[in-house]
Amino acid sequence: MSTTEPARKPRGRQFFANPGPTNIPDSVLLATAHQTVDFNDPNFIAVYEACVAGLKRVLKTQQEIFLYTGSGHAAWEASLVNLLSPGDRILILESGYFSLSWAAMAQDLGLAVQSVAADWRRGVDLAALREALAADKGHGIKAVCVVHNETATGMMIPLPEVRAALDATGHPALFLADTISSLGSLDFRMDEWGIDACVGGSQKGLMLPTGMSFTGVSAKGMAAHAASTLPKHYFNWTNMLKRPHRSFVGTIPVSLFYGLQESLRLIEQEEGLENVFARHTRLAKAVRAAVQHWSGNNGPQLFCLNPARYSDSVTAILMPEGYDADALRAVALQKFNLSLGGGLGPLGGKVFRIGHLGDLNEPMILGTLATVELAMKTAGVPHTPGGVQAAIEALA
Ligand SMILES: *Cc1c(COP(=O)(O)O)cnc(C)c1O
Repeated sequence: MSTTEPARKPRGRQFFANPGPTNIPDSVLLATAHQTVDFNDPNFIAVYEACVAGLKRVLKTQQEIFLYTGSGHAAWEASLVNLLSPGDRILILESGYFSLSWAAMAQDLGLAVQSVAADWRRGVDLAALREALAADKGHGIKAVCVVHNETATGMMIPLPEVRAALDATGHPALFLADTISSLGSLDFRMDEWGIDACVGGSQKGLMLPTGMSFTGVSAKGMAAHAASTLPKHYFNWTNMLKRPHRSFVGTIPVSLFYGLQESLRLIEQEEGLENVFARHTRLAKAVRAAVQHWSGNNGPQLFCLNPARYSDSVTAILMPEGYDADALRAVALQKFNLSLGGGLGPLGGKVFRIGHLGDLNEPMILGTLATVELAMKTAGVPHTPGGVQAAIEALA
């Protein structure tokens, strides 16, 4: 066999602790292995409609939903081009790499981007959001964009407080939320929280392969869409509403729907959405307990310094000064076949991430933590040994 892949431990399973894409449950993987069917076949349409209804339940919305063949970036773009017009001003709450990427996309699309700056380790001050909204007397800000769960830093922004800031200032801006790494892992309620457009993807909490994303849209969002003039075709919601599936301009990725049908069954029937959230909370606490234990003796520490905003779907871990996160990740991968997330943007080499969303249980988390500790010892990274015991105490 000719391969350029580095040699890895050949036996056992790879432990995959990335915050997205995530592990795919075996039953979902099998469900996606479906022979081609015509997407207008009534049997498929029944599956499709059940999936759309299920997605709406998980989003906690009874409003419109539009789906695209494309990763989360596609739904980001769809949310902007369908709601806004050239030169419109939007306000983005800075949270980390993903908020910056959404802002860069908006800029490239011809929008004027204003941001509420934030300390990435403590999170945005929502008083600053209220001030920015109150200062905008002429209501030039057309949309407020928030990444619910900043996957790069392991921090969650409380969306009800963002809604409260809009309400308190009587500001009419649309409320856009990215739920790509929170949906199906953390509590998310589109309608109750007054979100006008939310953006989700297939390969994180929904435990599917990458390749499909979607946007939920409120009635207020649909009214804004009718007035929006940014160029769009593949993503155009008006075009979609004319199609039999009310989504997808072009071929529908049918195999992902067979997978989605099974993942919704796992989430809603086999486990229950509230139990899914509780499991994420439990496993996240164990991960944080281990990291907090390691942090003694100049060990790595939690990147997020705001306990009220800890993310229960991903933990970012800051390396001690002078130690490279990517070198540690390389040891974990090449010696022990553990795949960890890397630092994104300016956090490259400084941070590594343990994803704990999707199809995970206690043994997978404990195995991951034990192997991180083994990799730190192997790579000579300072830490206080015994993080796994701290995780066990948190779980027991
Ligand atoms: C993964 C992610 C994205 C990007 O989605 P892709 O599917 O990689 O295009 C956007 N926002 C957040 C919060 C994410 O975690």
